Amino acid sequence: MALGARRAPGARRVQTRWVPLDLPDAPSPELVELDRTTSLTVVWHDGTRAAFALEDLRRGCPCAECRERRDRGEPVWPRPDRPETLEARGAHLVGAWGVTIEWNDGHATGIYSWGLLRTWAGLDEG
Ligand SMILES: [Zn+2]
Repeated sequence: MALGARRAPGARRVQTRWVPLDLPDAPSPELVELDRTTSLTVVWHDGTRAAFALEDLRRGCPCAECRERRDRGEPVWPRPDRPETLEARGAHLVGAWGVTIEWNDGHATGIYSWGLLRTWAGLDEG
C-alpha cells in the first residue's frame, strides 16, 4: 500500500482537525509504504529510507493517551483485552505533516510526524 506524499501547493497549512503545537521543518517524504503486518517504510527525497517495525510504532504512539500510559509505566501494547497480533488496518497522511495509523486494536489517534520518524530513525537530532 503506497501513499503518495507529494507536497501540494499550500501543503504547509495544517488541517484544523489536528492542531499540532508547532510546524516542524522536517521534509515530507517522497514515499510512505505500509506493510499491514510488518512495517512502515518511509523514503525521503534525498533517497534516505527508514523502516519502522509496527510494534515499535504502536508502543511509541505519540498520542496523549499512550503517553499517559507510558508515564504510568503501563504497557501501551499488547494489552490483555486486545488482539495479540498487531496489524495496521490502514494509514492516512495528515496534510504534509505526518501519518496516522489505524491499528487492529481500534487505536488510531497518534500522529507520527515526519520529524518524529526522522528522529527515531536517527536522521535528525531529537
Ligand atoms: Zn496512542
